[in-house]
Amino acid sequence: MIKSRQHHHRFIIRTILLLLSLNSVPSISAHFFPNLTSIPEELLKNATGNPWDFFQQLAGCHAGEKYDGLAKLKHYFQYFGYIPNSLSNFTDDFDDYLESALRTYQQNFNLNVTGELDDQTVNHVVRPRCGNPDIINGSTSMNSGKTNNTSSSHHFHTVSHYSFFTGQPRWRKQALTYVFSPENQLSDEVKAVFSRAFDRWSTVIPLNFSQTDSVYTADIRIAFFSGDHGDGEPFDGVLGTLAHAFSPQNGRLHLDDDEHWVVTGDVRTSKLTSAVDLESVAVHEIGHLLGLGHSSVEESIMYPSISSRTRKVELATDDIEGIQTLYGSNPNFNGSSAQSVQERETGSGSGSGAAHCVHSRWGLTGLIMALCFTFLLLL
Ligand SMILES: [Zn+2]
Ligand SMILES: [Zn+2]
Repeated sequence: MIKSRQHHHRFIIRTILLLLSLNSVPSISAHFFPNLTSIPEELLKNATGNPWDFFQQLAGCHAGEKYDGLAKLKHYFQYFGYIPNSLSNFTDDFDDYLESALRTYQQNFNLNVTGELDDQTVNHVVRPRCGNPDIINGSTSMNSGKTNNTSSSHHFHTVSHYSFFTGQPRWRKQALTYVFSPENQLSDEVKAVFSRAFDRWSTVIPLNFSQTDSVYTADIRIAFFSGDHGDGEPFDGVLGTLAHAFSPQNGRLHLDDDEHWVVTGDVRTSKLTSAVDLESVAVHEIGHLLGLGHSSVEESIMYPSISSRTRKVELATDDIEGIQTLYGSNPNFNGSSAQSVQERETGSGSGSGAAHCVHSRWGLTGLIMALCFTFLLLL
C-alpha cells in the first residue's frame, strides 16, 4: 500500500520535472547565449531601445523655448545631480536650470561647453551609464568641481580627476568578503567575472577579497535586480542605467537584471546592439564600493558612462592614483597596471571566444527543479 503510494508520488514528480524542463528551454535560450552566433535572430530583430533614446528628438532645442519632453530631461539631470533635489514640478521650458545643468554636464564629460542641446551633447546623454550620481549634494570632483571658471571655455587641464564620496569613507580592514544573492542562482562563470574584477583592484592596493556564502557576515553583497528593488533607485530595463553601488562601508552592489550581460567573449563583435560587458561594469562598481566617485577622465574605469558592446576593464593611472590615495599601494604592485592586466587578458580571454549572455530570471525554474529532486530523494 505504502509502496504503491510512493510509486504514485514519484510518477507525479517525474511528470512535473519533465514539464518544467520542457518549459525552461525557451526561457533559458532567450537570455543565455553560449556564443555570439547563437543569439536568436528574433532578439536581434526586435532589439530593445534605450529608455533615453527619446532625448535624441530634443537635439537643437534652444533656451527660452518650450519642447515636449524637456521636463523628462530635467528629471534625468536631477537624477545624476545636475539639478538640485529641492526643485520639482518641472515644466517643458528650456529654462536657466536646464542650461546650467547642460553646461556642468558638458564640463564633466569634456564636451564643448555650449549650454545647448547640440548633437554631441545629446548623443552623450543617451549613452548607458552607472546609476550613481556625478554630483552629490552639489559637490563633485569631476571637472566642474575642479574649476573656478564658469565661462564657456572648454579647455581643461586633464590631470587627476579621481574623486571620493563626501568625507572620504573607506574600509578599515584589509580582508573583505563578498557574497552573491542566493536568489540570483549565478553560474560559476558569472562569479568568476566578479573575482577577476576584484583582482584588478587588489593588484594595486593592499586589500584582498574572498567569496563567502554567508549573506549576514559578508562585507559586500552583490545582487541583480529588475526595476524597483527597494532602495529608491529603480532600474530601467535594457540599457539606461546599468548598475549602482554604495559607498564604504555599506557594501551593496546592484546590477540591472534586464541588461543583456555578456559574460565571456568579445562583446565588441556582438550583433546584439544592447550587449553589455559584465566585467567592465563590475570593475567600475567595485570602485564605488571601495570609495571612488566618478572621474572626468574618459579612459578611466570611474568615468560614468560606457557604451554597449564596449569592453573597458583596465585600471587607468587616474583610477590607481585615486584608490591608492585611500588605501596606499600594494607592496607587490610594480607601478604598471598594463602588465598585470595584459597577463590576465591572455589568461582569461583566450578561451572559445564565445560570449555568454546570462539572465538570472530562469533561476527560479532551477530552484523549483532542485526542490523537486530533493523531494524525490526523500521518498
Ligand atoms: Zn559609477
Ligand atoms: Zn539598488
